[in-house]
Amino acid sequence: MTDLHSPLLRTAGDSWNITESVGATALAVAASRAVETAGSNPLIRDEFAQLLVSAAGPAWAQLADPSIAWLDGDEHGQRLHRVGCDYQAVRTRYFDAYCAAAAEAGIRQVVILAAGLDSRAYRLQWPSGTQVYEIDQPKVLEYKAEILSAHGVAATATRHAVAVDLRDDWPAALTGAGFDPTRPTAWLAEGLLAYLPSDAQDRLFQMCTAQSAPGSRIAVEAFNMVVDGNRRRWDRMRDRLGLDVNIGDLTYHEPDRSDPAQWLADHGWQVHSVGNHQEMARLGRPVPEDLVPDAITSTLMWGHLTGAQR
Ligand code: SAM
Repeated sequence: MTDLHSPLLRTAGDSWNITESVGATALAVAASRAVETAGSNPLIRDEFAQLLVSAAGPAWAQLADPSIAWLDGDEHGQRLHRVGCDYQAVRTRYFDAYCAAAAEAGIRQVVILAAGLDSRAYRLQWPSGTQVYEIDQPKVLEYKAEILSAHGVAATATRHAVAVDLRDDWPAALTGAGFDPTRPTAWLAEGLLAYLPSDAQDRLFQMCTAQSAPGSRIAVEAFNMVVDGNRRRWDRMRDRLGLDVNIGDLTYHEPDRSDPAQWLADHGWQVHSVGNHQEMARLGRPVPEDLVPDAITSTLMWGHLTGAQR
């Protein structure tokens, strides 16, 4: 019988570089942003995604190629992959808008949890004085900083790399890097939760809440990728490109995991959420009906601290 609690490829305290294990998922989602950015009517612009992905090697460069030529002759695979890229574009746009709204509301401290190859600290127009803290594993953050710096790309905010594992005592590392818990913060957890065991997810939310001054906000993607269609998408990446991004075996499938929207609502956050298929339809990228059973489902949400219950 399959153990639904333990991903096949994970161990407590495991670590990775950008092309290994969970690190490779950062490349895969950045490749989707590169595909979207090069498209004819992009929902987002991430000028650095192509650079960051192709620097990892030729197979990764193919994954970031907007023609999706690596799936030539496989129409179903191309359609499914396109839906995956559309979803990444929609979620990026949702969280870009969240960052813009937080800045508009006067928040000048942003913490990107599991930043991966997120280039918001380099590509968004931050108000002067904004501090962006990026938390991820050391080799992932190093890779991004090295590639961007080698190409003369400068951050548009004051960027702080906080190299720490999110299963550990990350608030100490965050404050050590200059984070000020007395100032309102905009937290972002995009593409992260399912890579954490459920107890680490609860601790993550507890720690964010404890470090949040009045006026703070939080944005979260709660995703469920374990459907056969997605599995076949990763199989194609392995078979055609030799890339091993087996998200199904890297994520924790715990049926009793806390529902993030409920957890946040129970702990003083007023939460606004939307299903990803609804948001994709709203932005003109509906999931074709025949692909709905195979497409990723997720909830995108953001909340602000009401202070009513902590
Ligand atoms: N948020 C980024 C984005 O949307 O482009 C990256 C998402 S990527 C799918 C997952 C990221 O989570 C990787 O960069 C990985 O290193 C990071 N991650 C997962 N578990 C982590 C942990 N326990 N500690 C630190 N980073 C972690």
